[in-house]
Amino acid sequence: MPLERLWAGWRTRYVAEIAGRAADCFLCALRELDEHNVISEETLVLERTSTTVTVLNLYPYGSGHVLVAPLRHEPEIDALSDEEANDLMAAMRRTTRAVKAAYQVEGLNIGFNIGRSGGAGVPSHLHGHVLPRWVGDTNFMTSIAETRVMPETLAVSWKKLHDHWPVA
Ligand SMILES: [Zn+2]
Repeated sequence: MPLERLWAGWRTRYVAEIAGRAADCFLCALRELDEHNVISEETLVLERTSTTVTVLNLYPYGSGHVLVAPLRHEPEIDALSDEEANDLMAAMRRTTRAVKAAYQVEGLNIGFNIGRSGGAGVPSHLHGHVLPRWVGDTNFMTSIAETRVMPETLAVSWKKLHDHWPVA
């Protein structure tokens, strides 16, 4: 059952300007963006390297929910090259540093959902999740209203993380 989303304005803009360029895969669309414009509040991209892209989740489970993906369109983690896998982990560690610096986190979820049955929203393009957690943050609104209520906008999350991004 699809959850109601609260970011219609952002979603409309995002789909039109970003995902629409490569309708099959929004992560590949981020790979195609001009390097001078890719890191911005518009794209929600926080970092792009020669092998990875890191972007705020458009459909976050909570504030500061970041996705980290290989640039290459590849669904399987075991199919990455050693370089791609190492770069992906390094990008997830930089993301973790930024999340810790930007939020007073008490815990984190860091991991991968593989395949539709594994819970992946975009199963065709591997991506890791970095998500700050707090004691008692289990979102009861999800179960009672099928609506996820966020304490801050994606623009605010992007700015916070961008301001705290570690220097490579
Ligand atoms: Zn892709």
